[in-house]
Amino acid sequence: MKYKRGFFNIENVDIKNISKKVGTPSYIYSYKMIKNNISNFKKNFKLISPLICFSVKSNANTKILNIMGKSGLGADVVSGGELIKALKAGINPKKIVFSGIGKTPHELEMAVKKKILLINVESDNEIVEIEKIAKNLKVKIKIGIRLNPDTDAKTLSKISTGKKENKFGINKKLFLKIIKKYKNSKFVNICCVSVHIGSQILSNAPYEKMLKVTKRLIRQSNHKFEYIDLGGGMGIQYDIKDKKFNYRKYCNSIIKIFDCNKTKIIFEPGRSIIGNAGVLISKVIYLKETKNKNFVVMDAAMNDFMRPALYGAKHQIIPYIKGTKHLVKKHEFVGPICETSDKFLISSKFKELKQKEILIILDTGAYGMTLASNYNLRPLPAEVLVNGNKFKIIKNRQRLSDII
Ligand code: PLP
Repeated sequence: MKYKRGFFNIENVDIKNISKKVGTPSYIYSYKMIKNNISNFKKNFKLISPLICFSVKSNANTKILNIMGKSGLGADVVSGGELIKALKAGINPKKIVFSGIGKTPHELEMAVKKKILLINVESDNEIVEIEKIAKNLKVKIKIGIRLNPDTDAKTLSKISTGKKENKFGINKKLFLKIIKKYKNSKFVNICCVSVHIGSQILSNAPYEKMLKVTKRLIRQSNHKFEYIDLGGGMGIQYDIKDKKFNYRKYCNSIIKIFDCNKTKIIFEPGRSIIGNAGVLISKVIYLKETKNKNFVVMDAAMNDFMRPALYGAKHQIIPYIKGTKHLVKKHEFVGPICETSDKFLISSKFKELKQKEILIILDTGAYGMTLASNYNLRPLPAEVLVNGNKFKIIKNRQRLSDII
């Protein structure tokens, strides 16, 4: 993704051509960047040859999931809807793991009937439910136990999941109790220990801590696990000042702590595979001047892209036409929604803008479209995939008539 002769291009497509044909706001993904991210991920963990289950919650577009499946990836799903979508996109059920703290009996039964790899359970009562299904269907169900390692991921508080006060996973004491209780169960086969301490993690330190806790618990449980599911969470650079996540270091920590020849490692990455491979394009509707600052009112809003309003996440915005003039007054980039939190960025330096000009919100491939809603009765944006000098709509813009 770069400027060519002063205009922003994704691969070899000038985004003005996409904007003309598809309109704005629209999500645009680069096929090459997705494939690069996948091959880099595989390369970085080559020494442990993990099973990579793409986290569907980060991007659930059927075509994107299809690319993951064709690249040999499985899926990490957290609802019946995500499970069906992953299967529909061609992902091998034997490479699907089902996480989440509130799977309904219906969703659990569906997962068993679809013969997925395993279900990561997050409470003792969930196992009771799974046992009932197993008895009923006369099968033995493969499960993982999601451990809450009480580890601070040192990330945004709203995307931290591995501390004891978080709702996720099972505490260490109960973890050991469960292993003991179900070790010889006729209905469940505890074949996996799973952990996921949070998202957008940029340092190896929290992972190393989590690995040590997990290792200690495995040893104490005296149980043989076929899989260790380490979740996702590897962060990306939303800002050039952000630290680059060191994959090799993480891989070495894993090798140091676990015998990867005896136990298969599973990862559930989302953001690190798709985050930087997508942008959201938008147009300036109005430039609105006030005494203290100017508002750039865009046609993308918090319903299209929720991360800034939901987590206080910061995403860079760049103009379609490269410019050098810098505005002196503070500019606030906002959407049309009737909420003060419907804002993306405040900038004191930006090139001079005109109404109708195209703007690009960067690194929106993960947790972009999947978090979009119809708030204020706004239709969902379109999704487009660029490959070389071609582009294709991979999800049509929702029609107003569909929501009214
Ligand atoms: N696995 C689980 C259980 C999750 O909750 C999440 C996201 O929060 C992920 C995987 C994916 O995380 P990320 O996109 O940061 O890699």
